[in-house]
Amino acid sequence: MKTETPKAQLKRQFRELFRCMDFVADNYLRDKDLPDKTVERFAEVYQQLGTAWQFLGLQCKHWDGYRKAREGKMACRICGKIKGTDEHWLLLPSKGRKRIGRRATPTSKEVSPTEKQALVVADTIQFHGATVEVKVANAYKKAWPGGKGGDMTIADDRIIKLREGQVECWLDTHLVHVRWKPKPRGKREPNYGAFPWELSKAKLRNFPIILEYDTKDRFTGLTILRPASPERTGRARPRGKKAP
Ligand SMILES: [Zn+2]
Repeated sequence: MKTETPKAQLKRQFRELFRCMDFVADNYLRDKDLPDKTVERFAEVYQQLGTAWQFLGLQCKHWDGYRKAREGKMACRICGKIKGTDEHWLLLPSKGRKRIGRRATPTSKEVSPTEKQALVVADTIQFHGATVEVKVANAYKKAWPGGKGGDMTIADDRIIKLREGQVECWLDTHLVHVRWKPKPRGKREPNYGAFPWELSKAKLRNFPIILEYDTKDRFTGLTILRPASPERTGRARPRGKKAP
């Protein structure tokens, strides 16, 4: 027996669904002689079918492209979704690799007047007990704390925060910051940083690390200064050659 491809299966399901919607509309919603109660009932049925349409549409990859729809909009030839409208739900496979979104980076060199306007992505996922936060923003103006003395400019950045149990890992353009038992904002004690000076100077250049501790000299985490990527500085060393 020939197995149906996901696309063929979805197309068939859509055909069946649209046939049901047309049936309800033609027989119960357009006929003015029916009692109000009946029309109301079938309007509800039509709504439910609309919900099914929305969720079925999440499987559609719009394989066959778009056709012209009303008001100059483009609609998918299979699911009828209007190009460019927001999806409110995501559909993920229960097995295999899950993918949500694409790697986002700042989109502009301009400084936005507000943080909201500068935001490219701000999203969070709880994944099997680990929490991942992604925040990407263009540069924006922000008032100095205290409300006096004009604005400061917050640089554009891509910030990833991973929280697993008692460890929080923060990654941005310049830093990898690992925190041990992080306290919630507002409850944080002052943190101090120091380089591991005990290492010889020759070795130290290989350890771009700041060790952190609290007021009682307890270890609270470490910061690893990310080395600049060779593309950015143009100072890549040939392979196999050691630094002078
Ligand atoms: Zn589609």
